[in-house]
Amino acid sequence: MKTIRDHLLAILNAEEDTGSRIHRLQQAAKRYGARLFPELLGILTSLELEEQEALRHWEGIVGAWQGLEQQLGRDISLQTAVCDYFSTNSGPLKAPKIIDTGLYETTMQNAYLDKLTGLYNRRFIDEVMGRELALAKRHASELSLLFFDIDNFKEINDTYGHGVGDLYLQLVADIISNTKRMEDIACRYGGEEMLLILPSASGQDALNLGRRILKRVEKAALNYLGHRISTTISAGLATYPRYGETADELLQSCDAALYRAKGSGKNTIAYATIDKRRGLRVDVSLPVMVRRFGFDGEQDISAFGQDISLSGFSFQTDTRLPMGSFVEVLFPLPEQDALTLIGEIVRVDDSIPRSVKGASMHHPSFQGLDVGAELCFKRMDKLCQRAITSYIVEHGRQ
Ligand code: GH3
Ligand code: MG
Ligand code: MG
Repeated sequence: MKTIRDHLLAILNAEEDTGSRIHRLQQAAKRYGARLFPELLGILTSLELEEQEALRHWEGIVGAWQGLEQQLGRDISLQTAVCDYFSTNSGPLKAPKIIDTGLYETTMQNAYLDKLTGLYNRRFIDEVMGRELALAKRHASELSLLFFDIDNFKEINDTYGHGVGDLYLQLVADIISNTKRMEDIACRYGGEEMLLILPSASGQDALNLGRRILKRVEKAALNYLGHRISTTISAGLATYPRYGETADELLQSCDAALYRAKGSGKNTIAYATIDKRRGLRVDVSLPVMVRRFGFDGEQDISAFGQDISLSGFSFQTDTRLPMGSFVEVLFPLPEQDALTLIGEIVRVDDSIPRSVKGASMHHPSFQGLDVGAELCFKRMDKLCQRAITSYIVEHGRQ
């Protein structure tokens, strides 16, 4: 699938006069919007610029090109206009160096690509994560990460040899590349772990895409000397900013989620659970009543508590509550009236968290409640806050 960069390179390398190229670049800008300009300036100059700044320089370059063409009466290349613009305007490029775009792209690609899979390498992840997180912060948008690991990969290596293992790795990498959206960035994190960075994608968007990838891997097989070699993959999913604000925090969240996905039987995706909820959270392994408010009226749902903090509540249900829906939780308190907590569903997942495996999973009220959900409290009066705080303080000590 072509990226914005590929489109821009095709236009810049086309055999036509500069005027036509500029016209096609302006058309492409209409299609991709302002995010095209940092890419374009990145190709023309290797500068890393924000959208508005890149747009301002691009307009300056086009102005310089028009001026030069009028004065000299012949076709002026874009590169000449770039040099003229930056050398006559004090800006971020003080001593430009000329290098052939094709040669530069090849060198850069080799430095950032993993040879075996053709995905981006670890070095690229370090650079791109900083850039994408800065963009997400500036636009107050989400960004999701899917961290994949091949299930039982050692078996393939042990049975058929490392070379066949490599071929299988390529197969998985191809599926990820061919399933992702154009703007997603697929990387090999190391070994048989692959990372998909999904700019502007909510947890739900990432989950949908991740599920498609898991299905395709499950169905795919490598044919080797009459053998059909096939396995599955698991993934951890974390979304900025809820599950981490830095690359490290997000990757740690993903990694922990991946560990849970493996623990809950593999071939599945688990959400991060280390989130930004304020303060301590404590286990609440007890049955609770969840009431959902929808256009179609109210619906009472049985649920089993998992943990609670001052800003959220995790629980298991038998009903997949829609993300973003509003629910009321009747939270029983020892020797007091139940608390009514109102919040928004911010996570839904299929995997049973480890904390409810074991003892509470065998609790009769837990049977069949295999959908995980997380509620983010919307508003809470002082009384509720005080009641939860004392519950947390009391039960957190145990
Ligand atoms: P799990 O389902 O728990 O992930 O089990 P697994 O067998 O996949 O175990 P694990 O992830 O711990 O092991 C990864 C294996 O991947 C071990 C290593 O030999 C193999 N591996 C790592 N990098 C490569 C590679 O580039 N090529 C091949 N063929 N194998 C690799
Ligand atoms: Mg591994
Ligand atoms: Mg593995």
